[in-house]
Amino acid sequence: MTRRSSFVVFATAVLVAAPVVAQVTDAMIESDARTPTSVLTSGLGTQGQRFSPLAKVNTKNVGNLVPVWSFSFGGEKQRGQESQPLVYNGRIFVTASYSRLFAIDAKTGAKLWQYDQRLPEGIMPCCDVVNRGAALYDNLVIFGTLDAQLVALDQATGKVVWKEKIDDYQAGYSYSGAPLIVKGMVLTGVSGGEFGISGRVEARDARTGRLVWVRPTVEGQMGYKYDDNGNKIENGISGETNQTWPGDLWKTGGASTWLGGTYDPSTGLAYFGTGNPAPWNSHLRPGDNLFSCSTLAIDPTSGKIVWHYQNTPHDGWDFDGVNEFVTFDMDGKRLGGKADRNGFFYVNDAKTGKLVNAFPFVKKITWATGIDLSTGRPKYVDDNRPGDPTKSGDGKKGNVVFAAPSFLGGKNQMPMAYSPDTGLFYVPANEWGMDIWNEPVGYKRGAAYLGAGFTIKTINDDYIGALRAIDPKSGKIVWEYKNNAPLWGGVLATRGGLVFTGTPEGYLKAFDAKTGAELWHFQTGSGIVGPPISWEQDGTQYIAVVSGWGGAVPLWGGDVAKKVNFLEQGGSLWVFKLFAPQMADASSH
Ligand code: CA
Repeated sequence: MTRRSSFVVFATAVLVAAPVVAQVTDAMIESDARTPTSVLTSGLGTQGQRFSPLAKVNTKNVGNLVPVWSFSFGGEKQRGQESQPLVYNGRIFVTASYSRLFAIDAKTGAKLWQYDQRLPEGIMPCCDVVNRGAALYDNLVIFGTLDAQLVALDQATGKVVWKEKIDDYQAGYSYSGAPLIVKGMVLTGVSGGEFGISGRVEARDARTGRLVWVRPTVEGQMGYKYDDNGNKIENGISGETNQTWPGDLWKTGGASTWLGGTYDPSTGLAYFGTGNPAPWNSHLRPGDNLFSCSTLAIDPTSGKIVWHYQNTPHDGWDFDGVNEFVTFDMDGKRLGGKADRNGFFYVNDAKTGKLVNAFPFVKKITWATGIDLSTGRPKYVDDNRPGDPTKSGDGKKGNVVFAAPSFLGGKNQMPMAYSPDTGLFYVPANEWGMDIWNEPVGYKRGAAYLGAGFTIKTINDDYIGALRAIDPKSGKIVWEYKNNAPLWGGVLATRGGLVFTGTPEGYLKAFDAKTGAELWHFQTGSGIVGPPISWEQDGTQYIAVVSGWGGAVPLWGGDVAKKVNFLEQGGSLWVFKLFAPQMADASSH
C-alpha cells in the first residue's frame, strides 16, 4: 500500500516535470520506418513496407510472447475492425468500426479519451462500417469517417480542432482509409466506387484542413488548386477527355481511391491505387477507362499525375487496383511492388512507372494468361469477360462466366509487408472465384451503379487464405501458409526474422520469415482483419493488433460467407510482449 502511494506521487512528479513533448513533424514522419519507439504512420513508414527494425522479439524467443493487456472498443457497435493502431508519446491511437477513435495509455491499456463521429442515417459504405486507421501530425490525430468527413482531434484531449467535409454521403461517398501525411499536407482519397462517384486524391493543410489541391482519377475531369484565400484555380484536366472513355460516362466513372496512398521521400512521389471504373458492366464503356484500376504517381507539390500504370485496362470484373504500391530497392533501383486484386503481382520503376516484372501470386487466374512485359498489358482471355446483356435473348442478363480471382481479390484491403532482410514480400492472398454476369443499368445519384450480379465461390476444399512469401525478382513463391478462412488482416515483418499476421479464426500468428515455419499463435477471441504493429517503449518491444471479425467477406462472400458464418464478432486491441519474470512477481503480490 505504501509502495503504491509513493509510486503515484513519483509518477505525478515526473509528469509535472516532464518537458513539453515534441509535436509530430514532417522529418519525424519521413524517418518513421527507422524509429521504432513510435508508429506515426499507416504502413510503419510512408513507403508502406510494414517492416519493424526491432529484433528483441525474434525467431528464438517468440514462443514466449504473452498478452500484456486487451482493450475493448465496447458498446453494441462491433463488426469489422480493420484498423492499424498508431503509437506516439506513450499513447496508442486506434480507430474502430462506426467511425470511432480511441486514445489509450500504451503501458496500462487505460482509456484516455474516445471520439465518436455522430453518423447520420443513410450512410452508404459498400463493405462494412470499417476504418483502417488515423494519421498523426503536429498535435493532431486525423481520421476519415463513413459520412465522408475528415476530423482532426487534439492528441492530448480528443477535442475537435478542425472538421472538413470530403463530399456528400447521400451521393454514395464515404471514407475508410488511413490518411497520408506528406509535406505538411494530409492526402486522402474517396470511397464509393460502387455508386458512380468521382474518384480523386485531395491534399489539405494538415494543421487547418484547408484544401490545397484536388486531383481527379478519371480521365476528362478538371483538377484544381487553391490559393491561401481559398480561391479555386484550374490545374489541368486529368488525361484527355474521351480518349479512353465514351460519351459522358467519365462524369460518373468511379476509380475511387478508397485505400489511401503511400509516399516515398526518395522519389518525391505519392502513389495511389484506383478502383473499378463505373459501372461494372464493361460493355457500356468501351476503351481502357483511364485512370481506373491503376497505380498513379502524383507530385504532392503540384498535384499533378507524373506517371500512371493501368493494371486492368477496361476492367470487367471489379478488379479494383487500389492495392498499396510499396517501394523497395532491388538491383540498385528504387522499385515498387503491388499485389493487385486481379491476381498478378507487379513491379514498376518507382520514378517512371515502367513495368519491370509481373507474375501471378495466386494459383488460379482465368481472365488473362499473363502480363506482356514489353507492352505492359494483360493477355486477355476474351471468353472470360462477362457477356453483354444487350446480346442475350431477353436483354436482361448477359452470359454468366466463372472468373478467378473473385472480385474480393487475390488480395484486398489487407496490406502486405516487405522485409529488406530477406528481400521478400509477404502477401496475404486468397484463392477464390465467382460466377459473374452483366445487367442493364443507368446512373442514379446515391444508388448502386453496378450493372452486374455475382456469387463468390470457393476453389479448394481445405483453404481459401494463403500467406505467401514472394520473391519480386524471380516471381517465385518461396513459402506459403494456408488458412481455412480467407485472410483479411495485414502483415508485419521484423528484423527479428518474423512475419506476423492474423486470421478470421481469431489467431495472431508468427512465422519464420525465411522458412514459413509457424512459431507462435494466440487466440484473440474474434477474427483478425487488421494489420499488426510493433514498437519499443522503455526498452521493451511490443506487438499489437486489433481483433474484430467483419469487412466485405460476410457481406458479399456468397458461398464463402456461408462457410465462415460461425465466426464471432468483436472489437478489441491486444498488446503483447515477451514473458518476463517481473510480470510473474507483480501478479503474485
Ligand atoms: Ca469496387
